[in-house]
Amino acid sequence: MKFHILIFGCQMNYADSARIRAVLTNCWFSYTENIKEADIVIFDTCSVKQKSEDKITGKLKTITSDQKVRITWCMIQHTLRSSKLQGKTSTLPVGNFMGSIKTKEPKILWLHADEINKLKSSEKSTEIIAVNNAFNPLFYNLTQKRKNIELMRRIDDTGFLPLMLKKLWYKISYDQELINEYEKIIPAAGTTSMSTHKTTAYIPISTGCNQFCAYCIVPYARGLEKYSPVKQIVDEVKVHLKNWAQEIVLLWQIVNKHPKFITLIKEILKLKGLKRLRYTSPYPTFYTKELLALHQKEERLCPHIHMPLQSGSDIVLKRMFRGYTVTQAKEFIANIRNLKRPGSSKGDISITTDIIVGFPDETEEDFQQTLDLVRYGDFDMVYIGIYSTRPGTLAAKNYPDTISRAVKHDRRKRLNTVLIDISHKNNIQEIGKIKTVLVNKKSKWTIEGYTDTMKQIIIESKKSVQEGDFVQVKITKALPFKLYGEIM
Ligand code: SF4
Repeated sequence: MKFHILIFGCQMNYADSARIRAVLTNCWFSYTENIKEADIVIFDTCSVKQKSEDKITGKLKTITSDQKVRITWCMIQHTLRSSKLQGKTSTLPVGNFMGSIKTKEPKILWLHADEINKLKSSEKSTEIIAVNNAFNPLFYNLTQKRKNIELMRRIDDTGFLPLMLKKLWYKISYDQELINEYEKIIPAAGTTSMSTHKTTAYIPISTGCNQFCAYCIVPYARGLEKYSPVKQIVDEVKVHLKNWAQEIVLLWQIVNKHPKFITLIKEILKLKGLKRLRYTSPYPTFYTKELLALHQKEERLCPHIHMPLQSGSDIVLKRMFRGYTVTQAKEFIANIRNLKRPGSSKGDISITTDIIVGFPDETEEDFQQTLDLVRYGDFDMVYIGIYSTRPGTLAAKNYPDTISRAVKHDRRKRLNTVLIDISHKNNIQEIGKIKTVLVNKKSKWTIEGYTDTMKQIIIESKKSVQEGDFVQVKITKALPFKLYGEIM
């Protein structure tokens, strides 16, 4: 039986998919890169942005009717909460529930979490197929239109995937005890990267989020925080370092909130074979002095700090429930600018940020304050998000989406104009410098890579280089968001 995974989303989805792949491979399924060859197609989706949901519904149309489809990850729980069916199910006790799609009308059986374990000992299950906390109108609608959709489930239940498949009457065997703890599944080396090369490995260090920013679906979609133990993460890093990886990227929605984050960074930095250590996404208030000091001292901890500030207006930040003020945000930035890396001058750490434009009731004055903050931050990159309501969030409940589409797009354009100037100015200062670049894309015409500050470089080279190679590049030309250079 062959399977293929379609991934929609960020590095976290790639890391999730690597775990699904590991679990299925253990049950004697084989992975195929060619979707047409696949008996089973798994969609690994994100629901943070509406775009991801639109993409998946579009892509489903291209799957042939004899291929089975599985959908996994946060879209599922999210749509449950925004469901018309919510009224019908809210009288049921809180817990997980399961649905059968064998009958015309999905049958809902509401189960508490520990009852799921009973499935392990149950030999026959005639009607129930395992859909843990995943029944929702989207699933229902999709199954009405597309009879080959078999299963929708939470990514947290990846460990139970063999059990679920068995319930779907697949003849499969697995010889390990099933442990439904996502963080204990170790993916195969070389499967966790968004790139085709195996030099970079993405490693989730925890799951969930307790922050509940007003606009964000993640705490509902992914649940509350669960931290992986340091030893287990370090063991996983060791596996990847033994198998080609040289750049390790630690992942989590609030990665620097892990209670042992500093210990973890220090332990990983002790490992042989590591060339670069990065982490994403952090939260501004969890940047401790100790973490900044490590960025100053440790050459292999990349000199790039992402500081997702979202807005430069105190009023908007308060309504977003971000938990810091603009004055504090400026202090965070100043602290980073004061760091001095070994052998270099002050200000050698690149800072990037995320900004949301058009949050409900954001005034022109609020927006002007955001522009001021972006100028103050001198950011190398701003990932600009246009606000859109995500059903189920606090913002969707409490703040009508008052800003017109035209105003949102105009603000994005103006912010981008400011950013282009900053990026060009900062990139010009790189000309003449020699940088270590990780090659991540190679075609007939171009070679591309990125520096340890995450700046993209187009490389000219007569030498033979491969994706995944580290090369020394002299910067020859600078544009906004892009550098050009020659291999030394
Ligand atoms: S920290 Fe805020 S924005 Fe980030 S995942 Fe958690 S709730 Fe969402």
